[in-house]
Amino acid sequence: MAKDYYGILGVAKDATADEIKRAYRKLARQYHPDVNPDPEAHERFKEINAAYEVLSDDRKRQIVDVGGDPLAPGGGGGPGGPGAGGAFVGFQDIMDAFFGGATGSRGPRPRTRPGSDAILPLPLDLHETAFGVEAPITVDTAVTCQTCQGAGTAAGTHVATCDVCGGRGEVQSVQRTFLGQVVSSRPCGNCGGYGTVIPNPCPTCAGDGRVRSRRTLTVKIPAGVEDQMRIRLAGQGEVGPGGGPPGDLYVEIHERQHDVFSRKGDDLHCRVTVPMTAAALGTRLTIKTLDGEENLDLRAGTQPASTVRIRGKGVPHLRGTGRGDLFVHLDVRTPTKLTPDQERMLRDFAKTRGEEVAELSKQGGFFSRWRDAFNGHA
Ligand SMILES: [Zn+2]
Ligand SMILES: [Zn+2]
Repeated sequence: MAKDYYGILGVAKDATADEIKRAYRKLARQYHPDVNPDPEAHERFKEINAAYEVLSDDRKRQIVDVGGDPLAPGGGGGPGGPGAGGAFVGFQDIMDAFFGGATGSRGPRPRTRPGSDAILPLPLDLHETAFGVEAPITVDTAVTCQTCQGAGTAAGTHVATCDVCGGRGEVQSVQRTFLGQVVSSRPCGNCGGYGTVIPNPCPTCAGDGRVRSRRTLTVKIPAGVEDQMRIRLAGQGEVGPGGGPPGDLYVEIHERQHDVFSRKGDDLHCRVTVPMTAAALGTRLTIKTLDGEENLDLRAGTQPASTVRIRGKGVPHLRGTGRGDLFVHLDVRTPTKLTPDQERMLRDFAKTRGEEVAELSKQGGFFSRWRDAFNGHA
């Protein structure tokens, strides 16, 4: 018997490339010799790799689908292949068999298929991402039709075998070519490849087995989440066609811009403007933090563009203890307009410090005042 590569990865025969890749990664993580020293796990890991090699390659997967084994010695090994007493089926034979299409049936596709994941953006304020919140969300997804429980058929009726394909889900056509007869198959147009039709569809869902529904859920947002993070709600996504199992719902955090704080990771940054005199003399400021107001003592001689770090006043770490820091960026404001008295005091002050401050000519003064007025500073 050919190996059951689908079974090894635990995926359906009609699994998408993405589903195969996901199943492989999950198993590989579980059985990788680095994480699982059990010798049986090692064998299993080899099997998993072989199955992925086959199923991730379209040509090899097609060989599996016609009952062959692309990794068997000789490359062939169809049903009753080598060692089973049957005729040896070589690689090329399998390819011919497939591309000839005569035995290339993959059978009807199931009406019930898994649903897809859904994603929902959730705008939150900084306070909510920082400290967590229980947020109500309105979800609009497909849910199982309650009238037919997903079957798609009207009450008391059943699906019927498709007359066109006889339930195979595909129809074959024969063409004559220089290689001889080539038989190819395509999905049946009458039943959509299902092999069955619904003569009396459910009036609620028109045969789809699912309907759209809007509902409200409460999602618990943990403290410390960040913009663009996603929270998974298992089984809250779209129900599949035919009432198939639902996918997951991902709630994507969209953090609103805060009017005071900007966030970098778990640290917060804000700007505070202080007058030149306060920077020179030192002062006590009252600043806003996420937790409320806080006193901040500014040292005498604080320089322009300096930063004060307040530890533990940032955003709490997600899944951990402790918090980021708050960085207060200080802008020192130089006065733009001085009264004659203030100007004289400043000049005296400069003189006591031996700082030479040249007095602008009357004309220069006039022009600079005129320019300030023009720029709206005066
Ligand atoms: Zn229905
Ligand atoms: Zn059909």
